[in-house]
Amino acid sequence: MASSSKRPRSGASDTPAVPDEKPAATGVREAGEAVPHVRVAVIGSGFGGLGAAVRLRRAGIADFVVLERADSVGGTWRDNSYPGCACDVPSHLYSFSFAPNADWPRSFSGQPDIRAYLEKVATVFGLRPHLRFGTEVLEARWENEETRWRITTSAGQWTADAVVSAAGPLADPQIPDLPGLSGFPGKVFHSSRWDHEFDLAGKHVAIIGTGASAAQIIPSIQPRVAKLTVFQRTPAWVLPRRDREITQLEKWLHGRLPLTAKVRRGTLFALRELQVDAFVRRPGLLRLVQQLAERHIAQGIPDPSLRAKLTPDYRIGCKRILLSNTYYPALAAANTEVVASGLREVRGSTLVAADGTEHQADAIVFGTGFHVTDMPIGARVFGVNGTSLAEEWKDGMEALRGSTVRGFPNLFFVIGPNTGLGNSSMILMIESQLNYMIDALTTLGSIGAAAMQPTARAQRQWNLELQHRMDRTVWTTGGCRSWYLDPNGRNTVLWPGSTTSFRRATRRVDLGEYELIMRAAPAAARTVQEVSA
Ligand code: NAP
Repeated sequence: MASSSKRPRSGASDTPAVPDEKPAATGVREAGEAVPHVRVAVIGSGFGGLGAAVRLRRAGIADFVVLERADSVGGTWRDNSYPGCACDVPSHLYSFSFAPNADWPRSFSGQPDIRAYLEKVATVFGLRPHLRFGTEVLEARWENEETRWRITTSAGQWTADAVVSAAGPLADPQIPDLPGLSGFPGKVFHSSRWDHEFDLAGKHVAIIGTGASAAQIIPSIQPRVAKLTVFQRTPAWVLPRRDREITQLEKWLHGRLPLTAKVRRGTLFALRELQVDAFVRRPGLLRLVQQLAERHIAQGIPDPSLRAKLTPDYRIGCKRILLSNTYYPALAAANTEVVASGLREVRGSTLVAADGTEHQADAIVFGTGFHVTDMPIGARVFGVNGTSLAEEWKDGMEALRGSTVRGFPNLFFVIGPNTGLGNSSMILMIESQLNYMIDALTTLGSIGAAAMQPTARAQRQWNLELQHRMDRTVWTTGGCRSWYLDPNGRNTVLWPGSTTSFRRATRRVDLGEYELIMRAAPAAARTVQEVSA
């Protein structure tokens, strides 16, 4: 059995310790210089990528880079700077368990505070030497002979034993392909690419979509614009948002007595875990919640015809439930018009709805979501047969335990297929996947294997069971079409269980579910690259 320990790697020990710093490989080289090699290349520096970096360091693995296409950390919390952007999961739960923040200003903190938190995590945990900004991954290709990944980026190449894809599902904006859009004379942008230079005051603004992003944008811009036209293809269920400032006393207590912060987090966690059964096994229980939402519409929308337009015809929970106290008042405002139809076409400055009605606009804001079931990173990653992940997933995304994919050795996903949540904090799922990834890497090191990939049987079995459970969930039975479903109607996005059950499922790597790949030969070419790493 060939051992990967032949190669000297700084800090690559099995003892969990913060490793010594070493000059991290830059990827930019002089002509003729060898490609730098790292043990792990992490793609993305949002919650997933930064979490991976912290966990790698804690596992004693210092030989890694975090490749980030933008010029700062934060992922979706960097990109989404639209007015009103905030998280609808309480901050004390929507944060890393290993990085509690006693200073959260509100129960549901806003984007600037979440972004600042991630910047602080990057600094406090010593991640900055590993970050490579302006480095977009263009291709990651598995090299069978060398048992490693070759990663081509906009700022040079790296090779790596393992790749952690933390590119995130909410990274690449989706704008519908509408006839005439390119001829629109006004301003056009997506919610996650907000143009802060553009002054909306006094303008006729059209917002397309009524998902979680649009529901935060609408009340934030409605008082400023002359007219707001909301194109609503499908109404959302909306519940009141119990947001408030965190008092100085609470902050002081959480800072001085960390146990109080733990109790708070534990309570938030437990309340959400208790809701899971209603979403995944007994959607009938959600009827009571739906009644609360119906009361919320009745209170917020006095006009019966507008109320009818805004009332969904599917069960609550089937699509993401929105939390807002300001959405309905903004829709009921005199300068807002709700068009209960999708946007079909653009003719000059006229927007044509699917119902044939025509509406003038100076600016279009697309709140139309992201490429989730067709993650763009999939087209850039090539596995053992030279096929891309996108090709592998042409009939739908699937992985083993949301983390690894057959044919793509040593590729670990953070927020991979079927790891999303409808009701709790994604950070819990991210941390479970990080446990799994670290266990895989340390296991490989301890048994002397170069790489691992799931067996076909294990991956098939995992997904059969998962999809069987999905059949009973509100996302399948609730009578809606959501972005959780792929074009074949299969939910490849959400986890049909509690976060606790996912934590259990990812606690340890089961080698019975994997094929191990041994290093073929101690290739001389590699030694050259190791030296440069
Ligand atoms: P989204 O939930 O995918 O919503 C996209 C919206 O665009 C839907 O209402 C969709 O209608 C509509 N749409 C698409 N094409 C259209 C067309 N041609 N005409 C009219 N409407 C059209 O996207 P999102 O709002 O950006 O949210 C994505 C996810 O980000 C959320 O589900 C959540 O996970 C996360 N997020 C969270 C928060 C938070 O924590 N508060 C905030 C923002 C986002 P259909 O429903 O008919 O498809």
